[in-house]
Amino acid sequence: MSTFDITIIGSGPGGYVAAIRCAQLGMKTAIIEKYDTLGGTCLNVGCIPSKALLDSSEHYHNATHNFSEHGIDVKDVKANITQMINRKNEVVAQTCAGVKFLMDKNNIEVFHGLGSLVDKNTVKVVGNDKKETLISTKNILLATGSKPNYFPGMEPDKKRIITSTEALNMTEIPKKMLVIGGGVIGLELGSVFGRLGTQIDVVEFAKTIVPTMDKTMSKELTKVLKKEGFKLHLQHKVQKVTNTGKGVKLVALNKKNEEVTLEADYCLVAVGRKPYTDGLGLENAGLKTNERGQIDVNEHMQTSVPSIYAIGDVIRGAMLAHKAEEEGMYVAEHLAGQKPHIDYNLIPGVVYTWPEVASVGKTEDELIAEGREIKIGQFPIKALGRARASMDTAGTIKVIADKETDEVLGVHMIAPRAADLIMEAVTAMEYRASAEDIARICHPHPTYSEALKEAALAATDDRALHV
Ligand code: FAD
Ligand code: NAD
Repeated sequence: MSTFDITIIGSGPGGYVAAIRCAQLGMKTAIIEKYDTLGGTCLNVGCIPSKALLDSSEHYHNATHNFSEHGIDVKDVKANITQMINRKNEVVAQTCAGVKFLMDKNNIEVFHGLGSLVDKNTVKVVGNDKKETLISTKNILLATGSKPNYFPGMEPDKKRIITSTEALNMTEIPKKMLVIGGGVIGLELGSVFGRLGTQIDVVEFAKTIVPTMDKTMSKELTKVLKKEGFKLHLQHKVQKVTNTGKGVKLVALNKKNEEVTLEADYCLVAVGRKPYTDGLGLENAGLKTNERGQIDVNEHMQTSVPSIYAIGDVIRGAMLAHKAEEEGMYVAEHLAGQKPHIDYNLIPGVVYTWPEVASVGKTEDELIAEGREIKIGQFPIKALGRARASMDTAGTIKVIADKETDEVLGVHMIAPRAADLIMEAVTAMEYRASAEDIARICHPHPTYSEALKEAALAATDDRALHV
C-alpha cells in the first residue's frame, strides 16, 4: 500500500492548488482525479472554456458592430463555431497539461480513477480499467466540486435541454435559445450565443437578473443586455420544458400566474450548481452531507473527522475557483502549523459579460439591512476620456463607504475590464482604506481606473471632478 502525508480527492482549482502548497511545505502528496485530464470543472468545462468562447464571440461582435466606426472595413465576416470550439479545446488542453506539469514538477503523485474513503486514513482508487489501489494517508482533503443543478420539470436531456457543459461544445449557432436562470452562467453563455446572432430569452425566477449582486449592477446590466437583444422574462416560474424533437417548448407562470409558452431550438438550464459527493464513500469514515448536499466543515475547513478536510464547491460559500484556491492554500498551511487567514467578505465576484460586472464587499441593500450608516459615490464610465476613445461607454462604478469613518465597505462596478479593475478595490479594502485614501492615490490617465478614483471622490463629500 502507498503511504502519503496527504491525499487529495479532486483536481479542480481547490485540489490542485492545495496539492502544490502541501508539496511546497514538504508533505508527501497524492491527488486523485476521476477524469483523464486534471483541472476540474474550472479548467475543463467552466472558467477557462467559457472565457475562451466569450473572447471569440466578443471579437466577432466587434467586427460586425464596431469596426466600421473605428474606420476598419471588413467584408463577409462569418462566425465559424467549429473553429471557435476547436480553439477553445486547444486552450483547455494546454491549461490542463500545465496542471499536469505542475504536479510532476512538485513530485505530486497523480492517480486517475474514482477516489473513495475506506476509513479515516485510507483511500481507495478504482481506475478506468477497474484496477484498485489502496492509499494509506495521514490526512485526506475532499475537493470533489460540484455539478449543474436543476429542478423538476427542467431535467436536462443533454441534447436540446442542456447544461453549461453541452453549451460549451455546440456544433451549431442556434436561431433561438432559452436560458433558465439569469445568473452568472446564463448571462455569460447567453452573451456568447447572443453575440453570434442567437436570440436569447432568459427566464428568471427572481425580480432581477444577477439577483445577489448590488441592485445598481442588475439595473445597468439589464440595460446593456436589452440593447444587445436579450429578452428577459423576470418573475417567471418554470413549470415544464419539453424536447419536441426539433426544438424545445417551455411553459412558465408569470407574476400574474398566467401560463406563458416559449419555444426555441435549445434550452440552457443554469439555475445553480450542487455539491458533488457521488461514490465518495463519506459514510465509511463516519461523514454525511448536510441538507444542501455540502460537507460541513469548521473554520479550518476540517470535517467532524479530524484527519479529513474539505474545500471548494463541495462546502459552504461562493462557488468560485479563487475561493476554492484560497481554501486549498489554507488547509496546506494549517496542516503545516501556520496561521493562514481567509476574509470571505473580500472574495471578489465577476460576471464576464461586456462590459464586465465585478464586486467586492457588501451590497447597498445588505448594509442597509445591517443598519449601517453609509454614503455612496458613483461615477459613469461614459464620462471618461478613455471610454470615449475606445467606444466603450456603458457602465458605472459605485463606492459605498461608512458615513462616519469613510471606510470602504463595498465596491460594485460594471465597466470595461472590471474583472481586473476590481482588484484595486480588493487591495484597498484588505488594508481597510477609506474612500478618501483611494481618491488621493494618483491614477494614470487616460484609464478606466480613473472611474474608481472619481467614484471614491464622489463618496468623499461629493467631490467628483469630471461630472
Ligand atoms: P471542481 O473544479 O468541480 O473540481 C472537482 C474535481 O473533482 C473534478 O475534476 C471531479 O472530476 C473530481 N472528482 C469528484 N469526485 C471525485 C472522486 N470521487 N474521485 C476522483 N475525482 C473526483 N468560477 C470562477 O471563479 N470564475 C469563473 O469565471 C467561473 N466560470 C465558470 C463557468 C462555468 C460554465 C462553470 C460551470 C463554472 C464556473 N466557475 C467559475 C466556477 C468554478 O468552476 C468552480 O467554483 C470551481 O471549479 C470549483 O473548484 P473545486 O476545486 O471545488 O471543484
Ligand atoms: P447562479 O446562482 O449564479 O444563478 C442562478 C440563477 O437562476 C439565479 O438568478 C436564480 O434566481 C435563478 N433560478 C433559480 N431557480 C430558478 C428557477 N426554478 N427558474 C428560473 N430561475 C431560477 O448559478 P449559475 O449561473 O448556474 O452558476 C453556478 C455557479 O457557478 C455560481 O455559483 C457561480 O458562482 C459559478 N460561476 C461563476 C462564474 C464567474 O465567476 N464568472 C461563471 C460561471 C459560473
